Amino acid sequence: FFSCASLQDIVRRHLQQYGDLGSLPDKVAIQLNDTHPAISVAELMRILVDENGLKWEEAWKLTKGTFGYTNHTLLPEALESWPVALLERLLPRHMQIVYQINAAVLTEARAKASFSDQQVANVSLIDEHGGRRVRMGQLAFVGSHSINGVSALHTELMKQTVFADLHKLYPERINNKTNGITPRRWLMQCNPGLTKLITERIGPEFLDDIEKLHQLDAHAQDPGFQKQFAAVKHANKERLVKLIKDRVNVKVSADALFDVQIKRIHEYKRQLLNIIHAVALYDEIRAHPERNWVPRVKIFAGKAAPSYWNAKLIIKLINDVARVINNDPAVRGLLKVVFLPNYNVSLAELIVPAADLSEQISTAGMEASGTGNMKFMANGALTIGTMDGANVEMHKEVGDDNIFIFGLTTEQVDEKRAKGEAPAEVLQSTHRLREALDAISSGVYSPDDPNRYRDLIGGLRDHDWFMVARDFDAYWDAQAKVEKTWLDRSRWDAMAIRNTANVGFFSSDRTIRQYAHDIWDVQTA
Ligand SMILES: *Cc1c(COP(=O)(O)O)cnc(C)c1O
Repeated sequence: FFSCASLQDIVRRHLQQYGDLGSLPDKVAIQLNDTHPAISVAELMRILVDENGLKWEEAWKLTKGTFGYTNHTLLPEALESWPVALLERLLPRHMQIVYQINAAVLTEARAKASFSDQQVANVSLIDEHGGRRVRMGQLAFVGSHSINGVSALHTELMKQTVFADLHKLYPERINNKTNGITPRRWLMQCNPGLTKLITERIGPEFLDDIEKLHQLDAHAQDPGFQKQFAAVKHANKERLVKLIKDRVNVKVSADALFDVQIKRIHEYKRQLLNIIHAVALYDEIRAHPERNWVPRVKIFAGKAAPSYWNAKLIIKLINDVARVINNDPAVRGLLKVVFLPNYNVSLAELIVPAADLSEQISTAGMEASGTGNMKFMANGALTIGTMDGANVEMHKEVGDDNIFIFGLTTEQVDEKRAKGEAPAEVLQSTHRLREALDAISSGVYSPDDPNRYRDLIGGLRDHDWFMVARDFDAYWDAQAKVEKTWLDRSRWDAMAIRNTANVGFFSSDRTIRQYAHDIWDVQTA
């Protein structure tokens, strides 16, 4: 309905203004934001051929010239496919058009000398396995002149995995447009204190040209500026302290390290790794109360899809662990765990400016880009993260000394998965992980229902698809580096300033300029 209404409006207005459809790609750009509107490829063909009498070949040229497609994820469960039977019943003309497009694509694929039968099947718009389905990603791809990923790594993985054979057939089409965030919302609106401080230091030019933030690099080592930068952060933390008391009735101190993971709950994003770290830290603090512990508040927020059992169970686990740790006097307030409900943009605007540490710990190869990572960077939080999505480019922009990178790489994850082994050696060698997993799975944090987490933890011992067990030691060591750095406050503040100074590349102004120039052929000033 939305695709049909939008396309009719676009075509009607174009005809009104220019009188003919031959110039459609010169005047109109339609960017398919994921596969959700991919049926538009067939619908535009229907409008051009059936309603405006264009020849098929001419209509196909105009359609490809008009559409671009942005892919947002490679997760197999997210790749849309629509049952052929459904389309035949509800949209029979569109199904005919999909078949006719597919016939042309398959002819091209068969004409390619190097292509095997398997490769021809891979580029087909029809998935023939277990009930025939239309692959909407393939439809969006063949109907567009540009197909882009949203970070450098994600774009390379598109070429190597889901679209490997379409990429061989149409090697000019895939390109990268690394995501960005708007500095109006994610710096100036949500952090007026920091915006004012930066303006006083380097002048107001950065408000319109965010790359000018680079001038802050020269002030990173200035003790006076470090104090002011830290004071703004502290004030933002005091505001969050009040919000946490109001919303979940937990008392936390703004002097503690605010360790923040806020994002949709998903196994690949590994909130589980973070909460297991909290349990291991809790055990270590009780075992060694004499050590110079860094007071830490672990802050979580995020929604789970209603049907995603394990995601909802992870929310339950965070709340169960929080209740035990927050009420144990043996911890002496050195560790608190908070889960803030109803995560949304308004809440993010209050949490992000108060973060010291940004958790971007997805299994390598699974986060297409991430944008939360960029919001934290703008606001002077340090990132602990894997070489995944746009973290790779953040690492490049800010430099190895100003980010805490850990964990398996995409290639190493692939290797471990190919072997299909349980992470047995990991569980044997590391007592911290073993003890934390034993406690959770035996009901220490869920005495009302001791088996609540047995299967969730069993998955880590068995296949560990998301590499939570295998990455635990590297994560523990990276967190130890975080604490060591926190104790050298001048070094921490310098790193935080350098994060804000180097966020310019992650402005959506840059991203949108690249879409305009490279995909839509729109001239900008
Ligand atoms: C930015 C944002 C996201 C995306 O966060 P990631 O860490 O990139 O997954 C999700 N939800 C809200 C409310 C956001 O503001």
